[in-house]
Amino acid sequence: MDPSNPMNDIAQAFSHFTYAASKKKMLIIDIQGVGLKLTDPSILSTNQEEFGITNSGKLGINSFFDNHVCNHICSKLITSDDKLQDSPLLLGSKMFLKRPKKC
Ligand SMILES: [Zn+2]
Repeated sequence: MDPSNPMNDIAQAFSHFTYAASKKKMLIIDIQGVGLKLTDPSILSTNQEEFGITNSGKLGINSFFDNHVCNHICSKLITSDDKLQDSPLLLGSKMFLKRPKKC
């Protein structure tokens, strides 16, 4: 990924957000695309029986954070201890995350 591309900060913050929103159980990485069309994510989970062979589990999650430097978007979304910020920016996502599951 090109570090001078502003989409890099968005993709990095999104990955970090997915970790916080999943309560440190999952991480979505490797988002690719052109412009605003993003595809081909890899999902890493602490449960390595999920999401196929690209799920490298806790090892992959740790590798992401070994190389991740929080940016200005991360700080608006995520606290320093990896919880979601109490921010109006996240109102919609928090409502989504709290939706009751359908039977
Ligand atoms: Zn971050």
